[in-house]
Amino acid sequence: MWFRRDLRLSDNPAWAGAVGTGDPVCALFVLDSRLLRTGGEHRRRLLIAHLHELDRSLREHGGRLRVERGDATNVVPRLTKELGATHVFWNSDTTPFAVRRDAAVSDALAGGPTVVTTWGTLVHAPGTVLTKGGTVSRVFTPFHKAWEATGWEPWPEADEHATVVVLDEPGHGLPDLEGDPPEDPGERGAHERLAEFAEHVVDYLDERDLPAVDGTSRLSAHLRFGTISPRRVAAEIGTRAKGRAGFVRQLAWRDWYAHLLAELPDLPTEPMKPDVGSIAWLDDDEGFQAWTDGRTGFPIVDAGMRELRETGRMHNRVRMLTASFLTKDLLIDWRRGERWFRTWLVDADVAQNVGNWQWVAGTGPDAAPYFRVFNPTLQSRKFDPGGEYIRQWVPELAGLAADQIHEPSAVGPIELAANGVVIGSDYPAPIVDHHWARDRALAAYGTARADSGS
Ligand code: FAD
Repeated sequence: MWFRRDLRLSDNPAWAGAVGTGDPVCALFVLDSRLLRTGGEHRRRLLIAHLHELDRSLREHGGRLRVERGDATNVVPRLTKELGATHVFWNSDTTPFAVRRDAAVSDALAGGPTVVTTWGTLVHAPGTVLTKGGTVSRVFTPFHKAWEATGWEPWPEADEHATVVVLDEPGHGLPDLEGDPPEDPGERGAHERLAEFAEHVVDYLDERDLPAVDGTSRLSAHLRFGTISPRRVAAEIGTRAKGRAGFVRQLAWRDWYAHLLAELPDLPTEPMKPDVGSIAWLDDDEGFQAWTDGRTGFPIVDAGMRELRETGRMHNRVRMLTASFLTKDLLIDWRRGERWFRTWLVDADVAQNVGNWQWVAGTGPDAAPYFRVFNPTLQSRKFDPGGEYIRQWVPELAGLAADQIHEPSAVGPIELAANGVVIGSDYPAPIVDHHWARDRALAAYGTARADSGS
C-alpha cells in the first residue's frame, strides 16, 4: 500500500483493498525531497507529525510505516520487486505532478504486480459529476446540484477481523519530529477536530466569515493530507440543518476544483477565461515584497500575510482579501501569489489554491466578476469590526480603538502617537491608494477584454 495524500487507516479504499488480499501488507510512504523542498516549514512539520501518527496506528497492527526517501518512480518498483509484491494499491490524485508520476510508476510496474487504484481523497471521483455534454460544469451551481444528486456510500472499511500483518520494516526515512508538535496531528486529531466542530456547525453560516472567531472547521489541512476522508466529514455533518448544508457545500467546491484540474491540467498556469487572461500584470517586486512581508499599510491584509508566515494558516475571508489586494490593487499576476500561498499554506493544494486564485483574479471558472474589487478597509470594518484579528497579528496597532485600527493612516498623527503609533516608522503608510488602484485595475482588465474582442 503506497500512502500519499491519504494518511489514515479508516475509510480508506486503498488500504481496505490491500488488507482485503489477506496477504501481509507493506505500508509505504515515499518522502520525495522535492516535496520537502517546495513546502514551507509549517507544512513540513505537519507532514512529519502525520507520518508519526500513521506509524503509531500501524504499530497497533504489529507493524511500522516504511518511509523511503527518493523518487517514487524508482522506489515503488524497486521495493515491489524486493518484496515480491503481488499487488500495489494507491489512491489517485489530480495534480499534474501526481498524474505524471503515477503514470510513470504504472509503466514501470507493467507486466509485474497488479496495480489497483481507487479514489479516496474526494467525495466524488473525477469524471462522475458531468454535464450532459460529458464535461465538468464550468459553473459551480449546476455542478453542486449534480454533485448532491450523485449518490455515494461510505467506502468499505478494512475488515476489522482480518489479521493484518504489516511488515515490520521501518525503513530509514521517517524524519524525527521537529519543534513543537502541531495541533491535532494524524487521524486521531482529525476526528477530534471534526467532533468539536460538529458541536457548533449550526452557527457556521453566521460565523464563517469572521476571522477573529473560531467559526469554521479548520479541517482543510487534514483533508489535504487525508488524515480524514471527505466522505466521513460529509456523512458526520450531514445536511439537515442550515449550517450543515452550507458547510457540506464547501466540500463540493473542493471536489469541483479538483474535477476541473483533472480535466484541465493547464489550470495552474493558464487563465480559464481568455478574455481577461492577457492582463498587463506589473512587474512590481517592491509591492510583492511588501505584500509577502505584511507591510502594505492595509492592516487586514498585513494581518493575513503575517498569520500565513507565522502559522501556515489564513482564514478564508482574509485569503480572498489578500489575493484581491495583490491582483487588483497591486496588479500583480495571480500566479505569483498562488506560488507564495502554495509554499506557505499548511493546507496548500494545487487544485484548491489555483481554483481560488483564479476565482479572485476573475480569470477562473465561475469567478468573481473582474470588476468586483474588494475594498480592504470596508471589508475589514465589516468582518473584523472590533479589530481583534488585526490586533493579534499586527501588534504595533494593538493600542488603536476599533474605529481607528482599520485605517490608521486616516487617523490624525497626534491621536495615533498617543496610542504609540507613528505612521512610516512603526507601521507603513498605505503603499497604494485603493480608489486609484481600483480604477487602474478596471482599466487593465478592460483593455485585456477589448484586445480579446469581448
Ligand atoms: P471550512 O469553512 O470549515 O470548510 C470546510 C472545507 O471545505 C475546507 O476544509 C475545505 O476543504 C473546503 N473549502 C472551504 N472553502 C473552500 C473553497 N473556497 N474552495 C475549495 N474548498 C473549500 N483551500 C485549501 O484547502 N487549500 C488551498 O491551497 C487553498 N487556497 C486558497 C487560496 C485562496 C486565494 C482562497 C481565497 C482560498 C483558498 N482555499 C484553499 C479555500 C479556503 O480558504 C480554505 O479551504 C479554508 O479557509 C479552510 O478552512 P476550514 O477548513 O476551516 O474551512
